[in-house]
Amino acid sequence: MAPETPGFQTEARKLLRLVINSLYSNKEVFLRELISNASDAIDRLRFASLSDPSLLGENEAFSIEICVDSEAGSLSVSDNGIGMTRDEVIANLGTIAKSGTEEFFDQLTGDQKADALLIGQFGVGFYSVFMVSDRVEVTTRKASQEEGTVWRSTGEQEFTVEPAECERGTRIELHLKEDAKEFLSTWRLKDIVRRYSDHISVPVTMPKDDDAEERETVNQATALWTRPRKEVTDDEYNEFYKHISHDFDNPLDWSHNKVEGSLEYASLLYVPKKAPFDLWQRERVRGLKLYVQRVFIMDDAEAFLPLYLRWVKGVVDSSDLPLNVSRETLQDNQQVASMRTSLTSRVLSMLKDLAEKEPDKYKQFWTQFGQVLKEGIGSDPVNQAEILDLLRFRSVKGDESFDVASLEQYVGRMNEGQEKIYYLVGTSSDDLAISPHLEVFKSREIEVLLLSDLVDSWMMPMLSKYEDKSFQDVSRGELDLKVDEPEKPASKESARGAGEESNNEDADLITRLGNVLDDRVESVRRSNRLTTSAACLVLDENDTGHQLRRMLEASGKEVPLPKPHLEVNLDHFLLHHLKTLDDDERFADLAHVILDQAALTEGQEYLEAGAFVTRLNRLLSEVLA
Ligand code: ADP
Repeated sequence: MAPETPGFQTEARKLLRLVINSLYSNKEVFLRELISNASDAIDRLRFASLSDPSLLGENEAFSIEICVDSEAGSLSVSDNGIGMTRDEVIANLGTIAKSGTEEFFDQLTGDQKADALLIGQFGVGFYSVFMVSDRVEVTTRKASQEEGTVWRSTGEQEFTVEPAECERGTRIELHLKEDAKEFLSTWRLKDIVRRYSDHISVPVTMPKDDDAEERETVNQATALWTRPRKEVTDDEYNEFYKHISHDFDNPLDWSHNKVEGSLEYASLLYVPKKAPFDLWQRERVRGLKLYVQRVFIMDDAEAFLPLYLRWVKGVVDSSDLPLNVSRETLQDNQQVASMRTSLTSRVLSMLKDLAEKEPDKYKQFWTQFGQVLKEGIGSDPVNQAEILDLLRFRSVKGDESFDVASLEQYVGRMNEGQEKIYYLVGTSSDDLAISPHLEVFKSREIEVLLLSDLVDSWMMPMLSKYEDKSFQDVSRGELDLKVDEPEKPASKESARGAGEESNNEDADLITRLGNVLDDRVESVRRSNRLTTSAACLVLDENDTGHQLRRMLEASGKEVPLPKPHLEVNLDHFLLHHLKTLDDDERFADLAHVILDQAALTEGQEYLEAGAFVTRLNRLLSEVLA
């Protein structure tokens, strides 16, 4: 029977070329990828055999074997793990089965180094074999089946599949390219296995020397997380991370612990350097690799960490859970719940340490995962204080600006007598930087936190207090800075001794403006926020903010637009001019223009663009005539 030739999926072909090109400087990682897959396959069979011991038959001793045939110029990696059916071989090796292929191509930057790091996220480590081989043969038999399959490919247009007689498990044979013959040397191979795969918990065996019959185990073959911390090197932690996460880069940090007492378990938790492409998809796979008494139970056990820590990678190995736990029973298991509580604290304190000891690394973490961590403020009230300490903000104080200010630093820099933590939420940091709401704060050297992440408008109202300081949105409500400014300078009017008269004029102006703008604003009032702008729009404390409203509307909810207050700067030239303006029509034009100007900088929903242009042009033509 002629072998079938199903052909690679187009994306798989593109990816294949990319993988080959981008990993080329580090060809040897193909072996790490093959051993990592073999070890996973053995883990899966060990687990399946718990409920069906007959799957193992006589072939009970798990191992991964590397064989070299120097005459034929080939190398093979075999495992006696779970194996694959014919359909699985086609799906796993000929297509990119995981979702997100398109996102993957969207994310490519053209920078080969950066792109190579993305590869692991998409489960395509296997393709790295084509860097070193011009022909690859995969012979595999699923543990539960009689018949095997052989898959052959040259890494070009297509592959073939044929039935085959073979042992349980998978054997991958690589016909090495001319420039990859170095991988026929057992010495070179041993070095690679020790460097990348020492932590694999099944034995990896090889001939003792080139062409020797006798074999030896080249790795430690003990589960890394069961070893004492002191005995594990950073390199080993790094390689173990790559094995479990499929990331091609080292992690940023990790925490390895053993807990003894009423609950016994070991955990090894990692903070990745980069956020995965699908961090924001709620249904994305997440969670830890779960082992029970060293037996692999499942990938992506999500019950052990809350959603806002969904980026953590790692392993948890429990001595107490039954071997037959299922995803469902994990959800309402008491032990799992208490492990979740302490694993959550473990992650938070690892981040706290990182922030204290390696602020640059923490900054890197914050840029990647800060927005997700913010979700914890609302969803994990028990840990709110710990999370608050981990938050970082952009902020301004007078002429100075800070990129990653913590609340601790903010409080440390507070002015004498200042009682509140001030902040401003907006859509972009550029808009925030020019907001009129900052004027008085800049002039009085009061620090303001600037928030422009989507979650901010949702998170900030949930913050209760930091230490004994409450939070205040500077764009809302009536601003009362008296307590924050002990010596208030005497106002110009009273210095001139014409206080009362001028107060009456001010009150008249405000009433007149209120009458003209009645339809568009809730009220007009004197501002103590502004030093240079003529006016700004202010919402009440409980109004839905612009950013939050946009977010809700994007998700299909209707949110009424709250009427704003117009606050005017009575020291501003335009307002002085209005006081003496008798012409009602001109007064109205100017009043509306002032309001629209305020809407332009913040709250474009309130802008009447057409009318604004007409009015402005009418005013300009009078001036220029
Ligand atoms: P990843 O391992 O990141 O998912 P790979 O491209 O390395 O991506 O492998 C694709 C899939 O092929 C694996 O997820 C697994 O299902 C299957 N596979 C690869 N190697 C083996 C093996 N030795 N035994 C059984 N299945 C395997």
